[in-house]
Amino acid sequence: MSYTTDTIIALSTPPGSGAIGVIRLSGPDAVNLTNQVFKGKDLTQQATHTLHFGLIKDGDSIIDEVVVGLYIAPKSYTKENVVEISCHGSNYIIQQILNLLIRKGARAAKPGEFTLRAFLNGAFDLSQAEAVADLIASDSKASHDVALQQMRGGFANELKDLREQLIHFASMIELELDFAEEDVEFANREQLRSLIMQINKVLYRLIASFEMGNVLKNGVPIVIAGRPNVGKSTLLNALLNEERAIVSDIAGTTRDTIEDELNIEGVIFRFIDTAGIRDTADVIEAKGVERTLERMKQAKLIIYMVDALQSPEELEVQLAELKQLGIPYLALINKADLLTPEKREAFEQQEVLFLTAKERVGIDELKQQLLAKVNLHHINTSETLVSNIRHVEALKNTETALQRVLQNIDNPVTSDFLAMDIKQALHYLGEITGTVTTDDLLENIFSKFCIGK
Ligand code: GDP
Ligand code: ZN
Repeated sequence: MSYTTDTIIALSTPPGSGAIGVIRLSGPDAVNLTNQVFKGKDLTQQATHTLHFGLIKDGDSIIDEVVVGLYIAPKSYTKENVVEISCHGSNYIIQQILNLLIRKGARAAKPGEFTLRAFLNGAFDLSQAEAVADLIASDSKASHDVALQQMRGGFANELKDLREQLIHFASMIELELDFAEEDVEFANREQLRSLIMQINKVLYRLIASFEMGNVLKNGVPIVIAGRPNVGKSTLLNALLNEERAIVSDIAGTTRDTIEDELNIEGVIFRFIDTAGIRDTADVIEAKGVERTLERMKQAKLIIYMVDALQSPEELEVQLAELKQLGIPYLALINKADLLTPEKREAFEQQEVLFLTAKERVGIDELKQQLLAKVNLHHINTSETLVSNIRHVEALKNTETALQRVLQNIDNPVTSDFLAMDIKQALHYLGEITGTVTTDDLLENIFSKFCIGK
């Protein structure tokens, strides 16, 4: 493949000054090119997985003292020759070294190109390459676990075997097409049916796991709802510990949703503050209200907030409405500092949590309740979870195609229909692992990586 005849180079540590910067080269000339500017020893004579101290020189002038790491093909991340130059982390030095090696013949890498090469050279499949991006981006234990599991093989392995069996059936049916006049059946229809049932079982589980995988990757969406002025923004501030949302005395000032993330004991929660739900003539606010209902439907949990001024009877009605949405909720009585003991007792007839958001009283209790309500602790992240929307789409498409195959087994059609749908299913399965790819798809996936990854 002409693709990997050139040698790419990029800074692999974040740009800006740091203690060290790591410049990475990958390609057939990685060692040769580095050797041309390295003074210390002959790098071309060194073994793989070794480190070498020396100077990087541009002609007579010294650029830096560096340590060079060698990874000789195929024992490297990209399966090509890889060199990592650890230099001092000044922007000036990094630019000098990059320019020097580009002058010598290296090419500046495109975003994600190292990982793209690793994929093209068969180091891992596409779903694993995507997991590398997720792993780099993961900011909680849970999302890290999901990405790591997927990078190490994940559900692609689970599908590989079943895909191979399906390929076998596809080729048997192809064979039937060759013998069309003789009306033979090489592919046993009952065996095909049972294989598809087996595949569907795996597909259902994986598709269902997306809800959780997505939550772990992107955070648990929690909507904070309630009438204007009950203290939603104040609560969000208290949770996030900063002045994020606008707090005001004028009802209806939170015009749009404000989102932020909070890590509670390793679980990421995404809090969404909403404009209050109520009838309004104000156009801007009406839009906010519409969006509130939309967001509420996407929430894993709704924090429904009332304040001490509202009546317990009213709350009962509102909670009944919430129940109809079918989304778990948590009822919060805010401004508990203003409650009379009698009113507090009346509220206690419902399952509620009291809070004085303004003074941050009850916040810790609320966090514990959130953890308990979303109940993520039982999640076994070593189990396969699908967390990528592209994968779940492909899984659903596979399932639809297989459903057609099942129907066609039931009302016998010609073998070519059967073959066509099986091929469709195989195509979608292949999209996940990258057995089937298009340039657009690869471009789309790898352009999301940073340069140097
Ligand atoms: P939102 O419209 O629901 O977002 O309400 P805000 O967070 O903007 O708060 C409305 C008003 O209630 C502000 O003046 C807050 O200072 C006040 N407030 C919020 N929490 C409390 C509380 O726990 N006790 C009391 N007494 N006032 C509060
Ligand atoms: Zn607000």
